[in-house]
Amino acid sequence: MTSIRYKRIVLKLSGEALSGTAGYGLDPAIVKSIAQQVKEVSELGVEVAVVVGGGNIWRGKVGSEMGMDRATADYMGMLATVMNSLALQDSLENIGIPTRVQTSIEMRQVAEPYIRRKAMRHLEKKRVVIFAGGTGNPYFSTDTTAALRAAEIEANVILMAKNNVDGVYNDDPVKNKDARKYTELSYLDILNEGLAVMDSTASSLCMDNNIPLIVFSITEEGNIKRVVQGENIGTIVRGKEK
Ligand code: UDP
Repeated sequence: MTSIRYKRIVLKLSGEALSGTAGYGLDPAIVKSIAQQVKEVSELGVEVAVVVGGGNIWRGKVGSEMGMDRATADYMGMLATVMNSLALQDSLENIGIPTRVQTSIEMRQVAEPYIRRKAMRHLEKKRVVIFAGGTGNPYFSTDTTAALRAAEIEANVILMAKNNVDGVYNDDPVKNKDARKYTELSYLDILNEGLAVMDSTASSLCMDNNIPLIVFSITEEGNIKRVVQGENIGTIVRGKEK
């Protein structure tokens, strides 16, 4: 039998991860490839919850820099995450994986509202649960949503899938060829050194609740499975100090 290190995971997909090289909108081939990778781990018996971002469609910060009311711009961002979530659900169901989307902002015609106990029941029944709509609050991010939902559903780990980098580096690896990849870090390292892994609200929440995070590349097919089976790819961030 294949060994599994993590029984229940939260997979954080940024909007960018769904847009491929275009950096904007959705690339159906990429969405399909991610769905296939999710299927692989789901079929191993891993309980998979996904938190989807919206940056490929809209970011609240951009709107507010253009003079919009920040909260309104953020609500637009949260709605963007719903579109991405529905695209991923569609792709997963096309390959036979039962999936539920739960939104933190109610829109009953398109998805279930977020109900923690119901989400946990779906996971126990091996349905993939997609958490859409972020936290439902402006001024937050979908990274914070991943931390919050992981704590709520008692996930063993957050897997942060990246499409442009394969872990956490001490400098931008695209601009600096000598940038060094970390294999292991603590949340305090991230906060103290200002490493661009996730925002400080999300990092603090993970640290306080001792939730490990693995940052890895999703562009190589099979990587979600590798991480779940305990292969050391990417960077692991631990709740407690190293
Ligand atoms: N957002 C928000 N509250 C949340 C989650 C998201 O206001 O709890 C808004 C925010 O404007 C953000 C946008 O939704 O810019 C898209 O989310 P995020 O930037 O986290 O997406 P990602 O970078 O992962 O694609």
